[in-house]
Amino acid sequence: MDVGTTVILVALVNVALALALLIQARLNVRPPGMRLWAAGQSLIAAGLIISAFRGTSLTGKIAIPVWQTTTITGFVLLYVGILRFFGRRERWAPLITLMAALTLWSCFFTFVVFLVPPRGAAIYACAAALMIACARAVHRFADPAVRASAGFLRSVFAALAAIYLLLAFVQGARWDSPQGMFANSPIYTTAYVATVCGTVLWVVGLISMVNERLQARISAQAETMTRIFETSPDCAIISRLADGVIINVNEGFTRLTGYRREEAVGRSSLEMGLWAVPAERKRLLAQLRPTGVSENVPVVLRRKDGSTLECVLSASALTLEGTPHVISLTRDVTEQRALEARLTHDAETDALTGVANRRHFLSQAEREITRAARARRELCVAVIDIDGFKQINDVSGHAAGDAALVHFADVAQRCTRDVDTLGRLGGDEFGLLLPNTGTEEAYTVVERIRQDLLAEPVPQLELDTPLVITISAGVADFRASAESLRDAIAHADSALYEAKAHGRNRTIVARVAANG
Ligand code: GH3
Ligand code: MG
Repeated sequence: MDVGTTVILVALVNVALALALLIQARLNVRPPGMRLWAAGQSLIAAGLIISAFRGTSLTGKIAIPVWQTTTITGFVLLYVGILRFFGRRERWAPLITLMAALTLWSCFFTFVVFLVPPRGAAIYACAAALMIACARAVHRFADPAVRASAGFLRSVFAALAAIYLLLAFVQGARWDSPQGMFANSPIYTTAYVATVCGTVLWVVGLISMVNERLQARISAQAETMTRIFETSPDCAIISRLADGVIINVNEGFTRLTGYRREEAVGRSSLEMGLWAVPAERKRLLAQLRPTGVSENVPVVLRRKDGSTLECVLSASALTLEGTPHVISLTRDVTEQRALEARLTHDAETDALTGVANRRHFLSQAEREITRAARARRELCVAVIDIDGFKQINDVSGHAAGDAALVHFADVAQRCTRDVDTLGRLGGDEFGLLLPNTGTEEAYTVVERIRQDLLAEPVPQLELDTPLVITISAGVADFRASAESLRDAIAHADSALYEAKAHGRNRTIVARVAANG
């Protein structure tokens, strides 16, 4: 094969390698340095093409330093790319000095003294120096994740450095020969074969190094995700979207549901009866489909032992091997809900009597008033006060007073319906809300309470004489008498005042209401 054909073939190989690097750079997550490698490889190819034009004419002479500088710049970019790949910064000064010195040297031995060997020796020496630098960089900076390909690259660079040093030495030894290695000789062939093999091998090494790093990152990410999945305190389930068949579960799943991993994988959550309310799964999927996520959905889960748990579930859609799946995290909130319910109950209840406290009674009353106004239904409010309560406290003691309050609440609740609300407004004063009730009926209810209290002394009091309490009450019809809750209670209050004024132990319906 003649020199021209060989050069063109080698150049084409290098163009192919540059393309391979570019394609790899596009496919991957753009590892740093990869574009520099592609650019370096392109410059080496360009240098080879330019070298085909070298000769003794002026153009041929110009081609010589251009070829040499282009080629060595390609090597420099390869080296800089390696440094960048390992997150290091290059120092440009020595590199530029090297390139400039080679260019000057090449120009001198082309235009001033036309001698091939010094030029050849210089470019091989530079190439050898850069190969050593590359081998050293790979050796020093490669992380364990890319150990295999880094070791391979180091050997390739070291072998090439040795070959280029040898070539530089051979050229230097023939300093005064006008032809240098230009003639077809075994050394010339060695130089080109070494360059072709070397470049192919280092590109293979570089691409494997990129892939090795990518692989290591993917494995690390996968491991992190697995750890998160496994160690989550919540119950984690991965299931197929189409049929709900469980693919994987974590420890939290066993803790929450009581099922072991082997009992769950391969079965669907519906088949296992995990959904106490199967419609909740449908609702969840309907939420999940358009957005891919649904957060903190309240669900009821059935455990292996049949007990149910109140939970919140967050789910997100994911594709595994091309099939849509759902990953869900479920947290048991049964205790939390119970605590919330207890707190709400405590916040709304009078601690002594167990009936609604003032705040809750008033808010219930507001709600009932709105409802009654909307439905045009009747609504009555009664205000009830125990007669001579101060005296009960004074004569029989505070504990007897407390027992009297509890007794009143018990009797009043017994005489009213579930829809009615009894509330302690303060001290010995109570409010009673009677929805769908007219004044006559309300009067009857309050009278029944009064009569029952007369008939039943306060229980469990060790007193000489049984303690019988009497009450005075005022009843007002919200619809007829009032525009607001405050008005209704004010009307009931004045009726109560009137009952007190007329000797107590009686119920009076507010006149406004009665007339209204
Ligand atoms: P009247 O017939 O006019 O209603 O007179 P009364 O003695 O009942 O007077 P009033 O309704 O003003 O009495 C309220 C008393 O209730 C005053 C307060 O010492 C007492 N009291 C308030 N809260 C409690 C409680 O939780 N337990 C007990 N034992 N007494 C309470
Ligand atoms: Mg009183």
